[in-house]
Amino acid sequence: MSYDVVIIGTGLAGLTAALKALEQGLRTIVVSRGASTLEVMSGCIDLYGAAEDPWLGIGALIRENPGHPYALLEEENIYQALSFFIQEVKGICPYHHQEGFQNYRIPTALGQMRTTCLLPQGQVAAADADEHVLVVGFKGYRDFCSALMAEGMNKTGYSWRSIDVDLELIQGLNKSPGEKAGEIAVRNCFYQNSASVGSYQNSIQLAVCLERIWPLLAEELRPQVQDVDKVAFPAILGLDRYLELQQGLEESLGKRVFEVPTLPPSLPGIRLSKCLMNRIRQLGGDLLQHSFVVAAEKTGDICSKVLVKTAGKTREIQGKCYILAAGRMGGKWIALQGEEVADEKPGLLKGSLNGSDFSRRQCPAAFPQQDAELSMAGIKVNKQLQPIDTEGKILLANVFCAGSVLAGYDPFSEGSGGGVAIATGYRAAELAARGLRG
Ligand SMILES: Cc1cc2nc3c(=O)[nH]c(=O)nc-3n(C[C@H](O)[C@H](O)[C@H](O)COP(=O)(O)OP(=O)(O)OC[C@H]3O[C@@H](n4cnc5c(N)ncnc54)[C@H](O)[C@@H]3O)c2cc1C
Repeated sequence: MSYDVVIIGTGLAGLTAALKALEQGLRTIVVSRGASTLEVMSGCIDLYGAAEDPWLGIGALIRENPGHPYALLEEENIYQALSFFIQEVKGICPYHHQEGFQNYRIPTALGQMRTTCLLPQGQVAAADADEHVLVVGFKGYRDFCSALMAEGMNKTGYSWRSIDVDLELIQGLNKSPGEKAGEIAVRNCFYQNSASVGSYQNSIQLAVCLERIWPLLAEELRPQVQDVDKVAFPAILGLDRYLELQQGLEESLGKRVFEVPTLPPSLPGIRLSKCLMNRIRQLGGDLLQHSFVVAAEKTGDICSKVLVKTAGKTREIQGKCYILAAGRMGGKWIALQGEEVADEKPGLLKGSLNGSDFSRRQCPAAFPQQDAELSMAGIKVNKQLQPIDTEGKILLANVFCAGSVLAGYDPFSEGSGGGVAIATGYRAAELAARGLRG
């Protein structure tokens, strides 16, 4: 198999890079071993959350830390990347932004406010929290506590209420023998994989069921919403038909409705991931999932192919260039094969590990504040996003790195994860195309 560009990783960075590569007419494949952080993140894209004005914040950040991924880009690159992203997801998984990509302030499930830059359609009504909101939880659904959210908001001067809806009652489960056929179908939908709604734990199954029973939910809630401005739900209002569900609830309740991100799995992130992958297929890109890039072969400073473990066999994929978007840990395990560095590990990234002890890196920076150096570790790159060694020598001239595989930043404390992924993924694809055109 031979491509113009081989992209490793289906996180936000790899998927953005793939879309930009396809837009530029490159024959593109994306290889991924599995889930990405999209499946666990809130769905909101953080550009820079540690300052009220993200652009002023990024300016200060770059002056303080010239090794930051944002320092490798012009402000214009970031702006273009965010605009491109919005355009690509339009219609299927719409995102909203403020003028000039300024930050929104939205409430969290704990009832605190946080900043973010791009909001998915389901969360846009959460911006600038209103005084009177009804927070709706579901009895037996343990990943969201409506009372906790309302209590947190009320501590900061709001007047929110909470309610927990009993889905068993909504479905009329105690209503036999006069139960209607539609209600039986709804009940079956809940019962097919669990003994009772009380033990119902899977957000995805619940989201799919809500796509069918939302009119009954609206009916139950209508008398409760008269005195509120908006209604908040955990972010499980549908999977594929979530836009329809949100619109239906809003029309039925006569109130704006918004979703609040909960514990993983994240429906907003999964919807985004599905949307981006479908778009890649639509544009003619190839996606090879459940496939592990285990090694890269190099000749001189050129990567000639990657070895990919798929079910049952190992294949070779050749690219004229490569975009490494394998996340915080992924890329560090790709061994490099070639006459100069046979048997060496960690191979591809040798010499670019920011001086960190490799074995300690098996434990990722889940708590970055405990080890600032570790949380900033990753691949060092030059302005062309090519991996470099500690002396600045290019390790692989046809490899471009994007997203959280990059060194020099801490997505958690900065609130910059999604922004860096989109901006560097976009830029990596631009640089790859430029390199191919010579
Ligand atoms: C719990 C959590 C919550 C977060 N919440 C937010 C948020 O609300 N907003 C925000 O903006 N940011 C958030 N972030 C940060 C943000 O999600 C990440 O910084 C960003 O999405 C990273 O994207 P990525 O594409 O670089 O990497 P990843 O999303 O990690 O994707 C890496 C991809 O590479 C693949 N891969 C790895 N190794 C290999 C290999 N050898 N072969 C093939 N494939 C491989 C993986 O399977 C995966 O598909 C959160 C992060 C976490 C962990």
